[in-house]
Amino acid sequence: MTSPNVLIVEDEDAIITLMRYNLEAEGFSVMEARDGDTALTMVAETPPDIVILDWMLPLTSGIEICRQLRRDPDTRLLPIIMVTARGEEADRLRGLDGGADDYLTKPFSPAELIARVRALLRRSRPALAGETLAFEDIVMDLARHKVRRKDRSLALSPTEFRLLRHFMERPGRVFSREQLLDIVWGHDVYVEPRTVDVHIRRLRSTLNTGGERDPIRTVRAAGYALDSED
Ligand code: CA
Repeated sequence: MTSPNVLIVEDEDAIITLMRYNLEAEGFSVMEARDGDTALTMVAETPPDIVILDWMLPLTSGIEICRQLRRDPDTRLLPIIMVTARGEEADRLRGLDGGADDYLTKPFSPAELIARVRALLRRSRPALAGETLAFEDIVMDLARHKVRRKDRSLALSPTEFRLLRHFMERPGRVFSREQLLDIVWGHDVYVEPRTVDVHIRRLRSTLNTGGERDPIRTVRAAGYALDSED
């Protein structure tokens, strides 16, 4: 693997310098954008492996940029770390809700920055590289678009494939119907929230026809998650 390419979206010189210095010292390639619109252009021209996105940006906010990246099928899975100010718990949650994969709170140490970037790349890279995802006895071959559970080959519709893929990339996390709609169908399409339930039902029925344990947990009043037993 060549050095991963990190895009820093930040308007404060001191923070850009700190991030660039530490990321380059760890062998990352670094690009920088000082506002969100420049960032969107850069992402389109030279897709990075990961984006570190500051919440407080001039013109368009970090959260809005994050939403825009999630809406676009080309950048829907781009790993994003949102940077928020200290103690802004609400911002952090809204950041994750807006589609960020992780967050970093200012002020952060160089070690924390590097650890978060590495962890997120580790989690995201199999998907980005078009390899395989595994959860218990379920294996998704992303490049060949095939899913197996134990010895069974599963026939999933494209929508159910996307839904399962999203769960398998983030096991244990609960997603609301609205989040699943945005992620799987995109913002531009109007789909009834109930549609999610229909696809979850079909996905479950395909996954569990062999009488296996149902890996999809319904979380009352919250949504769905892919979960281990207990
Ligand atoms: Ca800022």
